[in-house]
Amino acid sequence: MGTRDCKHICDESSPAIGEAGKTGEWRSLMPVIHHNKCIPAKQKKPSCFLCWLYCPDAVIRKTIPIKINLEYCKGCGICMQVCPAKAITMV
Ligand code: SF4
Ligand code: SF4
Repeated sequence: MGTRDCKHICDESSPAIGEAGKTGEWRSLMPVIHHNKCIPAKQKKPSCFLCWLYCPDAVIRKTIPIKINLEYCKGCGICMQVCPAKAITMV
């Protein structure tokens, strides 16, 4: 058996059109980020990113500030629940 080349393991997947299509079209709640509370934005360095880790739709980008692709967010609110800084509210 050969050795797998694991040098380029990808740590994120990109949102793709699923059975539900662009969920932003039927979502009833939308996450809003309060960058004044978000830890990476406040510290100006990569940290936390729990919302990125737990988002089931992989629509949060690990950038500073973080960005949410609302076209594919389904409004589940998990990002709000896991945020230790209460930097996300659902509206
Ligand atoms: S509401 Fe759900 S799908 Fe939308 S960004 Fe938050 S965790 Fe992801
Ligand atoms: S979990 Fe909250 S504090 Fe952490 S990156 Fe996401 S929004 Fe910012």
